[in-house]
Amino acid sequence: MRTVRAVAELRSALAPERRHERTIGLVPTMGALHDGHLSLIRRARAHCDVVVVSLFVNPAQFNERSDLERYPRQEERDAALAAEAGADLLFAPSAEEVYPSGFATAVEVLGVTERLEGAARGAEHFRGVTTVVTKLLCMAMPDVAYFGQKDAQQVVVIRRLVEDLNLPVRIEARPTVREADGLAMSSRNLLLSTEERSHALALPAALNAARDRAAAGERSAAVLLDAASEQMRAFGVEPEYLALVDPDTLEPLEELASEGLLALAARIGEARLIDNTMLEPTPASIPRQPHPRKVIA
Ligand code: AMP
Repeated sequence: MRTVRAVAELRSALAPERRHERTIGLVPTMGALHDGHLSLIRRARAHCDVVVVSLFVNPAQFNERSDLERYPRQEERDAALAAEAGADLLFAPSAEEVYPSGFATAVEVLGVTERLEGAARGAEHFRGVTTVVTKLLCMAMPDVAYFGQKDAQQVVVIRRLVEDLNLPVRIEARPTVREADGLAMSSRNLLLSTEERSHALALPAALNAARDRAAAGERSAAVLLDAASEQMRAFGVEPEYLALVDPDTLEPLEELASEGLLALAARIGEARLIDNTMLEPTPASIPRQPHPRKVIA
């Protein structure tokens, strides 16, 4: 695996591959790689001829300076892990390479960015994401770009962006990779103390509680959300948001008539964690019939 830092270097490494019609897969990351990232890299390795992993802690998408400063950075370890998972190129640009002086353009997706994470973190978060993802797609020009379902809203936003701007790339979303106890893997988990790590289990517990209720036939969003927030309270964790929404439009649902996305965010100590799951309606349990009365002839 080769590490490149300049856009020109990335382009000249990929140009001959493209000329030979080799497929290029891109896995955008902010580093501090874990098995969630590695699952995307392995997937790209299995389906593309050339695998590019980008490693860039994008300042433009951090709405809190302290979050950006605390964000874990471990490039040497990341390079070893990315290589082991099958990356050919690690693109690790500086902030100046991505945003040279005079940079004045933003890519903004309306609507789906305004809910959930957008409502909690402000418009600049997704503007930062969509601007940097557009730039990375223009820099690497991949055939496929891989994203994790853990950031479910990000996938919706990027699909919208790619469709609206006619970008010639296929977006593939991959399932969330979890720790053995259910906590979704996240670079921000590194910021948790041992005690906070146990409180963080509030997130998967809340999702599981709602999933169990949905599997038992419950369709009311209010009841499903209550089941989830009750679990969070049991861990002493207050959700920043907890919502059942349409998986495509992200509009809130009142009823689980078809698939629904249950998404939540919570602050645990210094870390802000997010998680989600898909809920599917199951037929409501058949109401119990009254016992047939014995008819005495
Ligand atoms: P990040 O480095 O947090 O920007 O994440 C880079 C990519 O990895 C994004 O597409 C994330 O959705 C994805 N990702 C992060 N955590 C996980 C996880 N636990 N499982 C699967 N994908 C993940």
